[in-house]
Formats: sequence, C-alpha cells, structure tokens
Amino acid sequence: MSELPLNYAKDPVVSFNEEEKLFRDVVREFCQRYIAPKWIEIDERAEKDPIDIPLDLIKKMGEQGLFAIPCDPKYGGQGGTYTMAVIAVDEIAYADPAVAIAVYALLNNGWPFALQQFAREEVCEEIIPEVAKGNAFFGIATTEPQGGSDIAGIKTTARKEDGKYIINGEKSYISGVGEVTKLPWGGGWFLVARTGGPGHRGLSAFAFLARRNGVLRSGFNPTIYPDIGRHGLTTGGFICENVEIEEKYLLGQENRGFYHVMEGFNLARIVVAAACIGATRWLLEQAALWFKQRKLFEGRYISSFQGVNFKFAELYAKYEAAKYFVYRAARLADKIYIEKDPTLNPKDLNIPVALAKMWAPETAVDIAEEVMKWHGAFAYTKECPVYRAWLGLFSYVIGAEGAQNIMRYIIARDTLGSKYVRPS
Ligand SMILES: Cc1cc2nc3c(=O)[nH]c(=O)nc-3n(C[C@H](O)[C@H](O)[C@H](O)COP(=O)(O)OP(=O)(O)OC[C@H]3O[C@@H](n4cnc5c(N)ncnc54)[C@H](O)[C@@H]3O)c2cc1C
Repeated sequence: MSELPLNYAKDPVVSFNEEEKLFRDVVREFCQRYIAPKWIEIDERAEKDPIDIPLDLIKKMGEQGLFAIPCDPKYGGQGGTYTMAVIAVDEIAYADPAVAIAVYALLNNGWPFALQQFAREEVCEEIIPEVAKGNAFFGIATTEPQGGSDIAGIKTTARKEDGKYIINGEKSYISGVGEVTKLPWGGGWFLVARTGGPGHRGLSAFAFLARRNGVLRSGFNPTIYPDIGRHGLTTGGFICENVEIEEKYLLGQENRGFYHVMEGFNLARIVVAAACIGATRWLLEQAALWFKQRKLFEGRYISSFQGVNFKFAELYAKYEAAKYFVYRAARLADKIYIEKDPTLNPKDLNIPVALAKMWAPETAVDIAEEVMKWHGAFAYTKECPVYRAWLGLFSYVIGAEGAQNIMRYIIARDTLGSKYVRPS
C-alpha cells in the first residue's frame, strides 16, 4: 500500500484487535482495487442515468462478504460484529467519497441486522441470504411527502384482512427504489405503516418486499428522483395501491412499530456516521496532497499560512472526535446485540448514536467545503472531484436517516430528561 499523505495521531482513538485488523486490511485491499478506480465513473454515469446502477460491483461486494456482516450465519449473514460493519463502511466510503456505494453497503448491513431483531425466522431466512449475496436490497421506508421527521404522523395504512395486510399510501425520498427493481432477486424495506389509531402507538413495522424472486408486487408503483449527488444509488418514491403482504412479514408486535424502527435507526445511524468518517479521511488526504504541491507568494506552501494550517488543525480535531463517536457507538452496539450484556439495553445507544450521527456528517461537510476552498478555482471545475464528496455527504446533513435537529433533540431529551425538552 502506498504511503499515506497524512501522519495520523499515533495513539489511535480506535484500537482494533488482530481479527479486526486483518478484516480491515482485506476490505481495504478490495476497495482500493475495485471501488477507488471506479467511483468517479460510477458517479458520472448515474448522474446521466440514475438507474445506471453498478450491479457487477454489488455482486462482487456480495461475494466478498461486505453485506449483512453482523447478521447471524444461520440466516445467511456473515457472523461478524457491528464494529466490523463499521470498519467495512469506513473503508468503502474512503474508496468512494461520493458515498453511493458506501450508502448501499451501510443500508444492507444496518437494516438486515435490524430486521433480524424483529422478523420471524422464515422471513430472515428468505431475505438475509439474498442481501448478503448482493442479489437483493433491504433498506428503510418511513419518509412520506408530508415530512420525514414526524414519524408519529405517518399516513400510509396497513389494513389486516384474511391473514394479510393491505398497504395503501405513499413513501418519498427512499433509497434503493431502483435497486429493488433492478437487482436479480429484488428486495424492499423496513416499512412503517398505520395499523391502529393516531400517533406513534398506532404504527407497525413490516418487512415489505416490493419485489422478490424477480417478481414485482401488484399495486407497487415506483418513481426515481433526480438527485444532486451520491449518484450510483437511487433515491425514489413509491405509491402502494392495495399492495397485499402476508401476515408473517409483520415485524415485532403490532402497533409497536415506532419503537422497533427507532431501534433500527440507532443501528443504521452508526454506519451512516461511519460512511461520513471514511469520506472525511479521503478529504483530509486530498487537502494534504494539495498542500504539498501548491505554493504561492514566492514559493510558500499555502499550508504555511496560519489561516490555512490552523483551520486544518481544527478540522482534523473534529474528524478524530467523529471517529471516536462512531467507534464508541459500534462497540456499544456489539455489547448490546452480539455479546448480549444483560446490564445494557438498546436505548443505551440513543445518546452515543445521536452524537455520532450529529457530528460526523456535519464535520464531513465542513471539511469538504474547506478542502474545496483550499483548492481555489480548480475546485469549481469538474476536474477536481472534491465536489462529488461534498454533494454526497450533504445528503446526511439534509436528513437521510434522520434530520440533524432530530439528533440534537435526542441528545437534549436523553441527557436533560424529556420533561425539560418536550414542548408542553
Ligand atoms: C438522499 C436521501 C436519501 C434518503 N433515504 C431515505 C430512506 O431510504 N428512507 C426513508 O425513510 N427516508 C429517506 N430519506 C428521507 C429522510 O429520512 C428525511 O429527509 C428526513 O427524515 C427529514 O425529513 P424531511 O426531508 O421531510 O424534512 P422535514 O421533516 O420536513 O424537516 C425539515 C427541516 O425541519 C427541521 N425539523 C423538523 N422537525 C424538527 C423539530 N422537531 N425540531 C427542530 N427542527 C426540526 C429538520 O431538521 C429539517 O431541517 C432520504 C433523504 C435523502 C436526502
């Protein structure tokens, strides 16, 4: 591996055991071989045609074992840890800082693992092996046109009838709509719909397979949106008109879907933040490479100006803090879900995860903007790829997997106590 342009802090905030180091090295080699040389081409092609999905790469990643990493091997998962999923996503985003491939990978680690917590055995056995092989996509579908932050206000309904649920409604800004329609097997989402009365206690969660075994469900009508960035992974919407799903696809308990999906978000947000730190590492290295060549004012490196190197130091500190938040949350997830530590419960992830999801995307975008400024006018041309990372990462500041203010709300609510934070 070539020499890195940055001297990272020698005492890393994150120390890996031997198995994790080996895993990271193997994943890094794969990513540098198959993703790093292709990420710009993937982004460019899908910018022209959003449905131009890198199916061959997804298949290769499946063969490499990069999906369903923490899932149980008895369901076709890789039998790894959540920390390993984070390591993989960190490496994938370093190789694809536009983060489309990283987001594909993070969704197909986080949400199958959430599925495993609530689905019946036969449903896990049906979905997880296909996701693991790269034949199917499994993500999350909560957002609706009236607003994504207000999950308790979800309008899509699931009416129980003769051992089936009939789904009606619309979901918007959903990642993976194109993938579900194009991958060999299909897939779907951890979908939340209303089975009871108003508010969060009337919601249930489902393993909603819009397409399986290559067959699209009747009444499922997808559309693809023209995203501004992270091309290579589609975002879209869908309308369900009397889509029938079998009762077995109910996740957990009826009318407890709000709590189940919040638990899923805690898992998924860790890998979201992992994608952000991977891309940030690439950004910082781009800055370092640029600093080593750009000279002005009688041959001074631009990084010799304090206006530049002080800013760099501050941003590097933010990156190290982000890395700490991400890996701390991953280790805690391992204690709760893999080691099943009886002194902990899933809600203990709320604060660590919200810190990671609040901090890592904002840090990544701040750094992307600064790296663009350090590159001067060159950054405003398509020759300089930094803008691709900036546009991809911005999806997480906008709100994918939960708006930033919602992370702030969770941190304030759980540290101060909800009585002092909720509007009266
Ligand atoms: C690229 C991309 C991919 C996505 N993929 C998925 C997906 O796969 N599945 C899915 O379900 N959704 C997905 N989303 C949607 C995402 O979850 C929503 O964008 C997010 O939940 C915010 O919802 P919204 O966009 O409707 O904004 P709104 O909820 O309307 O919020 C608008 C603004 O108001 C602020 N705000 C809202 N409520 C509060 C509050 N109580 N206090 C303070 N501020 C508040 C928010 O911070 C935000 O800035 C994706 C979004 C993007 C951009």
